[in-house]
Amino acid sequence: MEASDVEHELVNVLFTEKQIHARLDELAEQIAADYEGKDLLIVGILRGAAMVMVDLARALPRHLEMDWMAISSYGSGTKSSGVVRILKDLDTDITGRHVLIVDEIIDTGLTLSWLVNSLGSRNAASVEICTLLRKPEALTMPVEPRYVGWDIPNEFVVGYGLDYRQRYRNLRDIATLSPDVYS
Ligand code: IMP
Ligand code: MG
Repeated sequence: MEASDVEHELVNVLFTEKQIHARLDELAEQIAADYEGKDLLIVGILRGAAMVMVDLARALPRHLEMDWMAISSYGSGTKSSGVVRILKDLDTDITGRHVLIVDEIIDTGLTLSWLVNSLGSRNAASVEICTLLRKPEALTMPVEPRYVGWDIPNEFVVGYGLDYRQRYRNLRDIATLSPDVYS
C-alpha cells in the first residue's frame, strides 16, 4: 500500500520506502563488520519487525540464521499496557550464539529490556539490539540498542510493519497517523 492510497488518514510521511532501504543497507554494513568471523542469529520480533527483518537479512552480505519471537506488551490501542508476555518463543537454542534482536521501534523500552533480560539467562555469547526507530523521549526502561535507524519524536507512527489496530503494516512508508483515525 502506498501513502497516496490512504492519504487522508496520514498527517506526514516521515521515511519513504527508499530512505528505509538505504538506512538498512548502512546498518547491514556495520553489522557485517561487527560480526565478522562470528556466527550470527537474528531474531525478529513479530509482528511489527517482519518487514525490517526480511529487508535487513537480505541486505546482509553473509550467512546468518533467522528466528522469530512474538511478544505482547500492547493492547490494541496506542499505549503500552505494561504487561509483557511471550506468545511464541524461539525455536533455536541460543547457548553460545551471537544473537541480534531485530525490532521496528523502541518506545518505552519495556518490551526489549524485559526480552534482553530473559534471553540473557539462556547463556547466549552475546545479545544485541537493532531497531529501525527509537523514541528517546518515551524511554522509561534501560535499553541500549547497538544499531538504531533513526530517533523520532514521541508520536505514534504507522507503516513498514508498524500498526494501528493491526492495520497499516503493509504501508510501504513510515508515517504519522491522523488523530481523526483514533477517534
Ligand atoms: P515498548 O515496549 O514501549 O518499547 O514498545 C514496544 C512495541 O510497541 C513496539 O515493538 C511496537 O510494536 C509498539 N509501538 C510502540 N510505539 C509504536 C508506534 O508509534 N506505532 C506503532 N506501534 C508502536
Ligand atoms: Mg514490535
